[in-house]
Amino acid sequence: MNMKLFMEIHSDMPRQGPGCTEATRRAFENIPDIPQGVRVLDIGCGPGAQTLDLARLVEPFNGEVIAVDLYEQYLDEARQATEQSGLQNITFQKADMTDLPFDDASFDIIWSEGAIYNMGFENGLRDWKRRLKPGGAIAVTEISWLKDDIPETAHEFWAEGYPAMQTVEGNLEIIDRCGYRILDHFTLPENAWLDNYYNPLEKRFPLFKDRDGSDELIAMETAEIELYRNYSNYYGYEFYILQQ
Ligand code: SAH
Repeated sequence: MNMKLFMEIHSDMPRQGPGCTEATRRAFENIPDIPQGVRVLDIGCGPGAQTLDLARLVEPFNGEVIAVDLYEQYLDEARQATEQSGLQNITFQKADMTDLPFDDASFDIIWSEGAIYNMGFENGLRDWKRRLKPGGAIAVTEISWLKDDIPETAHEFWAEGYPAMQTVEGNLEIIDRCGYRILDHFTLPENAWLDNYYNPLEKRFPLFKDRDGSDELIAMETAEIELYRNYSNYYGYEFYILQQ
C-alpha cells in the first residue's frame, strides 16, 4: 500500500476509526472508584477525538490523559484540537503500542479506540496489563462478529482484511484467558461508523482521484464502506470495559 497517500487521504478527519462521544462516556461511566488525580493512557489516539472526551471526563477528578500514537501527523492534529479546546490536562507523546515507554503500574486506566487490532486483541490485552496499577481498568474497542451465521461476502472480506477477527463471545473468552473481569460491553451505534468515520472519509476521495495509485486505494476503502452499509447487522465495533 502507498502509505504516504493513505496518510494524506486520512488527514483532517474527526476520527480515524468508528467511535462517538456517547460511547466513550458510557464506557467511562462503567469504571468504578475513579481516584483523584486519575492517570489515563490513550493508546493509538489518532486525531484525538476520544482523547479530548476523556480529558473532559477526568477533569472533575483532577485527572490527566497521556495520549500516544505512532504517527506525528495524527499527534499534530490532536495537539491542534487540544489547543482549540483549551483543555490543559493532556500530554501527547510519540510511542509504539508494542513497546510502550512507561513503567509498570503507572496508569489507573488504559484506553484504546479502534487501534488494538494493530498488535492483535490478545497481544495488546496481555502486554498492556502490567502498565496498570492494581485494580486498574482497560476500555478498548475491537471489530467483532455480532452473529454466528456470517454471509460469505462479509466473511471473505474480513478473512483477508483482519483474519484474527472474533465473535463477541470469542473475545470474551480471550478477555477471561488474559485474567480480566468484564465490567461491561456494548456495540457502537452505526452513526459512530458513518457520521464520524466513513462519511467524512468518502467525502475526501474526489480530492485525490488524479493522484498516482489512488484508484486502488480508493477502491479498497470504498469496498470496505459498502460492505459495512450492507452487513452492519453482522459485525461492529464492540466496546469492552475490563478490570484487572
Ligand atoms: N483512536 C483514534 C484512532 C484510531 S485508528 C480514533 O478512534 O479516531 C488507529 C490508530 O492507531 C491510528 O492513529 C494509528 O496511527 C495508530 N497506530 C497504528 N499502529 C500503531 C502503533 N504500533 N503504535 C501506536 N499507534 C499506532
